Amino acid sequence: MPRRMQPALRALLLPDSTAAGLTASERLALDVRATAARTGRCTCGATMSLPEDFEPGGVYVVRVEHERDCPAISPAAQRALRKLGLR
Ligand SMILES: [Zn+2]
Repeated sequence: MPRRMQPALRALLLPDSTAAGLTASERLALDVRATAARTGRCTCGATMSLPEDFEPGGVYVVRVEHERDCPAISPAAQRALRKLGLR
């Protein structure tokens, strides 16, 4: 009987941009970050470089070098993450 392989899992932490108490610019910042995390490419053109040595069960931090004016790294993004208790 053939064995089925488990589907590959990819975990992402996507802050909720619809959470109460966020301003429009904070919501935009979180949405831009979420798009970059989901697709590996940010609207500013930055791409996500994945480590070459992924191991099953490992937890990795991936760095994305956003453009200086990208909403993903704006003060609004930092405020939003603090409001959500993620900073
Ligand atoms: Zn960006």
